[in-house]
Amino acid sequence: MTDLTLFNSLTRQLEPFQPIHAGEARVYSCGPTVYNYPHIGNMRAYVFADLLGRALTWRGYKLTHVINITDVGHLTDDADAGEDKMERMAASRAQSIWDIARHYTEAYWADIKALNIRQPAHWSIATDYIDDMIAFAASIAERHCYLLESGLYFDTASVADYGRLARAQTDEGEGRIEAVAGKRNAADFAIWRTTPSGESRQMEWDSEWGRGAPGWHLECSVMSGKLLGFPFDIHTGGIDHREIHHPNEIAQNQAFCGCGSLAEATNSGARMWLHNNFLVERSGKMSKSRGEFLRLQLLIDRGYHPLAYRLLCLQAHYRSELEFSWDGLGAALTRLKRLVLAVAAARERAPDASWEASTLEQAQARQWGKLQPLLDRFDAAIADDLNTAVALTALEEALAARKVDPALKLAAAATMDQVLGLDLAHLTRSALRLRPAAAIVSDAEIADMLDRRRQAREEKDFAASDALRDELAGQGVEVMDGDPLGWDWRL
Ligand code: AMP
Ligand code: ZN
Repeated sequence: MTDLTLFNSLTRQLEPFQPIHAGEARVYSCGPTVYNYPHIGNMRAYVFADLLGRALTWRGYKLTHVINITDVGHLTDDADAGEDKMERMAASRAQSIWDIARHYTEAYWADIKALNIRQPAHWSIATDYIDDMIAFAASIAERHCYLLESGLYFDTASVADYGRLARAQTDEGEGRIEAVAGKRNAADFAIWRTTPSGESRQMEWDSEWGRGAPGWHLECSVMSGKLLGFPFDIHTGGIDHREIHHPNEIAQNQAFCGCGSLAEATNSGARMWLHNNFLVERSGKMSKSRGEFLRLQLLIDRGYHPLAYRLLCLQAHYRSELEFSWDGLGAALTRLKRLVLAVAAARERAPDASWEASTLEQAQARQWGKLQPLLDRFDAAIADDLNTAVALTALEEALAARKVDPALKLAAAATMDQVLGLDLAHLTRSALRLRPAAAIVSDAEIADMLDRRRQAREEKDFAASDALRDELAGQGVEVMDGDPLGWDWRL
């Protein structure tokens, strides 16, 4: 069996995955800050984390995956002078933070489900771990922290190799981080923010450093260490986290574990740090506040199945920037439809065949005949730092192969799709057909007119058929004849 190689941001190298606990894979992924809906760029981070988890499962590891929900402590700015994103949203809506957090956590979970992202072993909610955070901070305070009026600060000079993960600190970053007077080093950060005297926050707790709230970086160190144990195998997040959030988590982990130099990767608290690159818009960085807010629901409202977005992500390598466009999404939907039709065709020929995924070990014990090279290519691609672009071609070629037992094709597709997660077991052509939310005519009306038109054409009454086509066009429905991959109509 070839090694599963992954790119470790800490060493900037491709490395074989070697589990810390035999047969297991323990993975922590930084989760969303639930002050707003996630945009589809955020969701790329979880499609990636899910893919990683699925690849580890396929390779036979027992996976324990943790994704956190940040419901306190994430500031509007990386400088500690910023406001808490949750507090600010709650104030602007005149709602309780707890209601805001619940609403957006549920919206996030709906996107997780729609994208066929598997449930992690734990969704750790930051505010459930406040006592652990206080205990963690207390254990490192004396040796690694100092108290300012605004809170307890971590002295980044107190650990070896601070910032090794980031390597290139930008001037802009340094400048912004300096904002708090009294810091010993520009990069020092608050692990506990005390509430200014005379003020109160919706979310605050008593601690030996005063009433206040934990810093965002502290939360991830505490939840990952508590649920997975230091050192665990893999920590993931978007590439922005490589610069500040993760270096700060690492510094805290080193302090907590009493660890030295990062030349030993496990001293960081995890052996590997993996980062997905950004989804961008042509106009630049994706944002929730500027221009069109690209939520998954907007894609659905426009008639694009959410799994077309998953496929769009899988077409690119996770470490490459991916530019979003509606045309690209449309092409991904067509490609997904092709896969669904190919599976349906195989099922029609082998109606009794089961949809059964094999692990790599089971797959290797099986005779795949003509499909063998495609299974090999699939596994080699996944093992090569999750090269899904190539893995997808193996799936497509397996489904298109000629003179192959359709039951075997289905077994190959099931096996490959357990890693890709396109839900080919359940997707049907009609399930992919979403009605744009703005459509006024009903499906039944359209179906009725299309039936009448089909009949007119059979009777070679082309005048009537054309009249019906025009009538449909008048209602915004475009009839599309003769395209086996297309729909019968489009709004
Ligand atoms: P946040 O809710 O802002 O903490 O972000 C949640 C996750 O999405 C983090 O792992 C971010 O690094 C990641 N992320 C943010 N923006 C993008 C983007 N445009 N493309 C991909 N990942 C992103
Ligand atoms: Zn985090």
